[in-house]
Amino acid sequence: MYPPLTREQETLRDRVRDFVRAEVQPVAGVYDQRENPEDCWPWELIEKLSEAGLRTITLSQALGGGGIDYPTTAMLVEELAVGDMGVSVIMAQVWKIEQLIEALATHEQKERLLIPFRDDPRGVLAICATEEHAGSDNVLPFNAPGAGSMMRVEEDGSEYVLTGTKRFISNGNRARLYVVAGRTDRERGVGDGTTYFLVPRESSGIVIEHVHNKSGERLVNNAIIRFENVRIPKSNLLGALNDARSDRNYFRRISNVYAAASVLGVAVAALQQATAYARERVQGGKPIIEHQAVQLKLANMAIGIESARALIRRTAESAQHDRDFDFALPSMCKVHATDVAMRAALDAAEIHGGLGLMRDYRGGAGPEKLVRDASVFLHSDGTQDIHRLRVAEKIKAGRPALAE
Ligand SMILES: Cc1cc2nc3c(=O)[nH]c(=O)nc-3n(C[C@H](O)[C@H](O)[C@H](O)COP(=O)(O)OP(=O)(O)OC[C@H]3O[C@@H](n4cnc5c(N)ncnc54)[C@H](O)[C@@H]3O)c2cc1C
Repeated sequence: MYPPLTREQETLRDRVRDFVRAEVQPVAGVYDQRENPEDCWPWELIEKLSEAGLRTITLSQALGGGGIDYPTTAMLVEELAVGDMGVSVIMAQVWKIEQLIEALATHEQKERLLIPFRDDPRGVLAICATEEHAGSDNVLPFNAPGAGSMMRVEEDGSEYVLTGTKRFISNGNRARLYVVAGRTDRERGVGDGTTYFLVPRESSGIVIEHVHNKSGERLVNNAIIRFENVRIPKSNLLGALNDARSDRNYFRRISNVYAAASVLGVAVAALQQATAYARERVQGGKPIIEHQAVQLKLANMAIGIESARALIRRTAESAQHDRDFDFALPSMCKVHATDVAMRAALDAAEIHGGLGLMRDYRGGAGPEKLVRDASVFLHSDGTQDIHRLRVAEKIKAGRPALAE
């Protein structure tokens, strides 16, 4: 992997890999198959991640975390997803929001809101942007008044009052602290009229309206959350007014990179399962790995994984270090890793023949689950087409890399 992993990164990767083998893989299929989505939520794994010091590893060392950087975080997100993409997404949300809050919060906000979260072994975080009429318009973004998130924000003395409903929110019914996008300037577009607020779960007026029943990524819960005149102190404004969606905001650098790392882990699991099965399954008088048609599928998976990982690594390094960040890169990561994982999961299922369809194969964590998991990122974190459009926008604007 370029640049080469440091000794610390290798040690951390191996710790997470061992955790995945010992704790996640044995139970992922069991949780996934539960009917009620709320029963799929793995508190025991979150508590174990806390115990291992991993849940808060992206907090700075000053705040008691490991202070790991974006490339290292992306690597750990991928490792978790090899065991289960839902667990990876739960932690990707927590880790990226920890990094977001650390980057933008005041000292007082960190003391008041981050420390209690840190000390709660079940502490998870969520970010609330999407609304019924505001999905792709937030991501592209379609920067016109009246489009994108319209959560109402009113000032009342020393407080803000938030009103509106968010949907599809990962960790939405479980988080103890939300980052909520509110429309603070209705005359401007969502890109420059939106502000982040820190909203504790115990605030009065927060109603979990529904927990979605998803086909894949079942170990993470997604919820519709209604904010009914939720009052928060003005000191809960995160970062700067109207800055939530700006390119200055670090979050837009890294969110899609972690999404890409999650879905890449599914591709890795697909290659691992397909290779192991192809070695043992005999048809045509030899193990099917000796048939070139099967070899081609395995080779394509490996090519896709290496290229997606390299792109993720390059983007995470650049997000960490470069002032002039190329905002086409995170979209490229998300599109490429999702395409790679979707193809890999389908090919792994085909290599398994009839078993590739069976929900009860491999304790419920076989290729059938991988296909469902990979498909989630066709829809989540911005659709594939919306990210292609974001790349196209940069090309139209004369993306420097193309002119070199
Ligand atoms: C599993 C999951 C987890 C999620 N987690 C979160 C979360 O934690 N927090 C959060 O805020 N949101 C979250 N989301 C929301 C997610 O980002 C949106 O679902 C996504 O951006 C798509 O929005 P939409 O569903 O409203 O689709 P729409 O925007 O309605 O799009 C419908 C179709 O139209 C196409 N389309 C839309 N606009 C255009 C255009 N201008 N040009 C061309 N084609 C267009 C889209 O590509 C898509 O195919 C999550 C969603 C899912 C499924």
